[in-house]
Amino acid sequence: MGKPTGFFEYPRELPADRSPVARTGDWHEFHDHLAEPKLREQGARCMDCGVPFCHAGKLISGMAAGCPIHNLIPEWNDLVYRGLWREALERLHQTNNFPEFTGRVCPAPCEGSCVLGITSPAVTIKSIECAIVDKGFAEGWITPATPEKRTGRKVAVIGSGPAGLAAAAQLNSAGHSVTVFERADRPGGLLMYGIPNMKLDKKEVVLRRLGLLEQEGVKFVCNTTVGGNLPAQQLLGDFDATVICTGATLPRDLPIEGRSLQGVHFAMEFLTANTKALLNGGAEHAPIHAGGKDVVVIGGGDTGTDCVGTSMRHGCKSLLQIEILPQPPLDRAADNPWPEWPKTYKMDYGQEEAAAKFGADPRIYLTTVKKFIGDAQGNLQSLVTVEIKWEKNEKGQFIPKEQPGTERTRPAQLVLLAMGFLGPEQPLLKSLGLETDPRSNIKAEFEKYTTSLKGVFAAGDCRRGQSLVVWAINEGRGAARECDRYLMEGTDLP
Ligand SMILES: Cc1cc2nc3c(=O)[nH]c(=O)nc-3n(C[C@H](O)[C@H](O)[C@H](O)COP(=O)(O)OP(=O)(O)OC[C@H]3O[C@@H](n4cnc5c(N)ncnc54)[C@H](O)[C@@H]3O)c2cc1C
Ligand code: SF4
Repeated sequence: MGKPTGFFEYPRELPADRSPVARTGDWHEFHDHLAEPKLREQGARCMDCGVPFCHAGKLISGMAAGCPIHNLIPEWNDLVYRGLWREALERLHQTNNFPEFTGRVCPAPCEGSCVLGITSPAVTIKSIECAIVDKGFAEGWITPATPEKRTGRKVAVIGSGPAGLAAAAQLNSAGHSVTVFERADRPGGLLMYGIPNMKLDKKEVVLRRLGLLEQEGVKFVCNTTVGGNLPAQQLLGDFDATVICTGATLPRDLPIEGRSLQGVHFAMEFLTANTKALLNGGAEHAPIHAGGKDVVVIGGGDTGTDCVGTSMRHGCKSLLQIEILPQPPLDRAADNPWPEWPKTYKMDYGQEEAAAKFGADPRIYLTTVKKFIGDAQGNLQSLVTVEIKWEKNEKGQFIPKEQPGTERTRPAQLVLLAMGFLGPEQPLLKSLGLETDPRSNIKAEFEKYTTSLKGVFAAGDCRRGQSLVVWAINEGRGAARECDRYLMEGTDLP
């Protein structure tokens, strides 16, 4: 612990984001770093707790509490305080293959569990993590690390999201020849075509890491759907082992009147098309465009926020975000104590931007949509909302009950459905005859990752359901470890 009195002396301080009005004029990242002396002060706030809850990575009440990949947080906080950045970077890479991703997009369950957070604002762990890895790249300390020996074993990874990339990085470091198959035209999974550019820059950050992996020996084969244009059985025959990391990409639909009107889209259709257009020449060419439209985003989670931020950059006319749950409390509720993830009201970047332009947080709560209304040409023109109340049914389950007389017709020429994901797409799983769990995810025990097929492992959202980048990295690393154990009858992978 660098400075025993640090947490008394220095208040929590985060770098100011770029102003909401300015940043909606471009697609650049909106986060910045504090100057180095300030970052060192923030590192000094860490108390090097005897039991560092920040590092624990447990599920409490179904939510992550502490870091799922067990980052050595107190160690690198101390190293940053002492100005030992290169040593901090080494510690960071010991547990995390891609700190430049988590340092930008992780909701930071570590901070929700930080012991300092019981009495004062938590240590700024995520911003310190991002600063360490960005300095590592800026100083040229991060270079391709090729394995000294090759084992002669071939592993296929299906899907190139954070789980697939972490599995590939680890298996390659163990000397196996790894090929990653991806159905999209670019690798990266939701890091590439999900999380928008202003949160995670594609060219500067995602492609930089993909390039490093390629230089280390990982092979990427895009435009290839395993179980589609590449038969799954053929792939299994060609490789000694396979790790499936295909995500949980089946979106929840809203099958109400008017669903088929032009202008009603799944969030991922909108976000993917936008990033593709941006990378291929300019977001103004995006085939689904919010410019000049009344936009309604249905769903109040992260995907919804990304739709809000993207619509703001397109120049939407108005924006409404509809959430069926109640507004969370400003402070932790009695049944949501530390070190659980704090379920409190927050303005994320998209809502800040909408509030800056339109004057208020665009979210309304305890509301759902009853029908979409179109014109004679089948174009969406408006929708009808209704307020709801959560009431218990005869089985004791909470269900939404419409409140009579609260219907409202609202203008909408673009609706984005961001109501979560049901699980992995099934064709590949069926073609392999893989067992699934009751939630339709691939059946494979956490920390074992072995599926019902010998030599086939599963990791990330396709095993646990739609989750977080940091959990995907945890699972990709774990599946690589178990796959290496299977191939070599022992493993040194962490
Ligand atoms: C819009 C959005 C925003 C998000 N924002 C955040 C955030 O800010 N922070 C955070 O921590 N988490 C966020 N998440 C969640 C996070 O992105 C996921 O939990 C994470 O990407 C899961 O990683 P994965 O590798 O398991 O799967 P994915 O990232 O979904 O990758 C799966 C890949 O497999 C490919 N694939 C599927 N089937 C096949 C096949 N048959 N053959 C070949 N390839 C196939 C897909 O094309 C995809 O590229 C967000 C999710 C969404 C949808
Ligand atoms: S819980 Fe907070 S104060 Fe304690 S070691 Fe972790 S970051 Fe430092």
